Amino acid sequence: MSQRLEPIITFQDAHGRSIAYLRLSLTEACSMRCSYCRPAFHGQPHDKSVLAVNEIDQLVRHLASQHGLKKVRLTGGEPTTRSDLTAIIRHLAAVPELGDLAMTTNGLTLARHAHEYANAGLRRINVSLDGLHAERFAELTGVDGLDQVLAGLDAAETAGLCPIRLNTVVVRGQNEQDLPSLVRFAARRGWDIRFIELMPMGPLAAQWAQRYVPEAEMRQRLDPIVQTWTPIKQQHDAARRYALTLDAGSSATVGFITPMSCNFCAACNRIRIASDATLYPCLMDRPGPSLLRALRPKFDPDVFDQLLIQGLSAKKPKHPAQGHTMMIQLGG
Ligand code: SAM
Repeated sequence: MSQRLEPIITFQDAHGRSIAYLRLSLTEACSMRCSYCRPAFHGQPHDKSVLAVNEIDQLVRHLASQHGLKKVRLTGGEPTTRSDLTAIIRHLAAVPELGDLAMTTNGLTLARHAHEYANAGLRRINVSLDGLHAERFAELTGVDGLDQVLAGLDAAETAGLCPIRLNTVVVRGQNEQDLPSLVRFAARRGWDIRFIELMPMGPLAAQWAQRYVPEAEMRQRLDPIVQTWTPIKQQHDAARRYALTLDAGSSATVGFITPMSCNFCAACNRIRIASDATLYPCLMDRPGPSLLRALRPKFDPDVFDQLLIQGLSAKKPKHPAQGHTMMIQLGG
């Protein structure tokens, strides 16, 4: 841990965006094989290059105590495939400057572990849910696991990992017809749901133009069940959010994550670190420097800061048109 006593220096990139949010990928392993995310053969970094609990603790403590980091989201791959996940959560929950500790998961194991994660200090979760039709779900994710995910969501709610958010990537020919049933489900449970535009990265990158469904079309598909759309404004939220009243008299909060039709790069306050300690200034751009040199054999805050500044200087005003990496490496 850094012992320096200098005042907090909030890092800004070359375009004046302050960095307050870290998305930390814990692994490239995943228990699902989503057709748009994970290639059939995906090698993983060697175990030795994957960040250990103490290294994660050191880098997050340093960013929070010295550089104004306020929020960490654990992601992957699938973060719950790490056997030391509870220990990681416990360490990060003890970092005093962090205001938020969240996780993105496929939900497959939450029925067993949600309470354990909540007790360790996890605040809330986003769960990927690409549909409610068991066969289409299995086809899209490669796992016949819809019931398991739904049981996981129940467990997460009971454990207090709230507010629960559902994330759905919309892929033409696979689940675009499921939007109304997903919104009704979210409304019944009182959970937020966010529909994500497919990004040109990963196994469907070459077919992106045919498989991508823009926000405008998603809204059209929802129109038959929606009476009113009221925009909700929120700073730094990547989603364009709406409060909906539905035909059945119920209400729902729906967001659209629109990296392709209306990017939110100008408000980006994020950096990403992959499980092998590579810094990614932007989800879709080329990797930045590896932070391992600052972490091994012993944490060096000055080297860490130099690498961070080097990485941030490469953050462009807007993401490139094509992704240079895969979501399975970075976690969205
Ligand atoms: N395993 C966790 C999960 O299922 O949420 C976390 C990692 S997963 C890579 C994070 C998110 O990225 C998921 O919501 C997934 O659907 C989304 N994703 C993967 N590939 C994508 C793509 N090409 N375009 C848009 N979103 C994508």
